[in-house]
Amino acid sequence: MTVPESGQATPTGTDAAALDIGANVLVACTTTTGDQYWYSGQEPFRQFRETTERIADAKAKLPDGQQTSNRIQRLYRKRSRRRDHAVNALLRDLVERLHEDGVEILYHGDLTGVLGEYWSVEANLKARTFWAHRQCLDQLANVCEEYGIEVASLSEAWTSQTCPECGEREQTRRHRETLTCPCGFEGHADLVASQTLLEQATNTEVRPTARPVRFQWDDHQWYPVEGATVAPNE
Ligand SMILES: [Zn+2]
Repeated sequence: MTVPESGQATPTGTDAAALDIGANVLVACTTTTGDQYWYSGQEPFRQFRETTERIADAKAKLPDGQQTSNRIQRLYRKRSRRRDHAVNALLRDLVERLHEDGVEILYHGDLTGVLGEYWSVEANLKARTFWAHRQCLDQLANVCEEYGIEVASLSEAWTSQTCPECGEREQTRRHRETLTCPCGFEGHADLVASQTLLEQATNTEVRPTARPVRFQWDDHQWYPVEGATVAPNE
């Protein structure tokens, strides 16, 4: 863990942010300054899945009665290492941005709510295995502490289903990553969830002021990509 040159940084403003943690979009975040960021899970998950398949292959080839091998253990370590690399880089990238935006408190949902019932069993399993929750939230707290940002957990009942335009939550529909409402609203469900969470936490209306910035992982860093459209399978 590297500490910024000034040691423990102090908050630069009085703004807040909220984030939604998921599987296809690893993290979606909205700030009271109206900024929105989202980090695609596509590449980290592709790598994770690939190594998981190699582990399954290696297990299938084990002699009868043998549970594991050096090779399998090595693959597990590799899978964790790559995941941790992507997640740690993500959290650092995000928290640095939030710090620059003047955010001094960051809300995140209670993760039991993240893995909501609208998710498929497969997606739930995928997110659970990938995120290793507690560890990830600990890391978030560590990075935020470096930047003097307070972290608070909130129950996120309904946030993924609430329409940010009219407040409807019973009649909204989520299909893949898109949330639609009878009032005509259509938006990215994870970004909406982070926005709703932020509104609930701060009790103020939050209006995005710019197009969401989307980031992709290239195995070294998270880089912003043009356009906020969501790929069909994301
Ligand atoms: Zn609506």
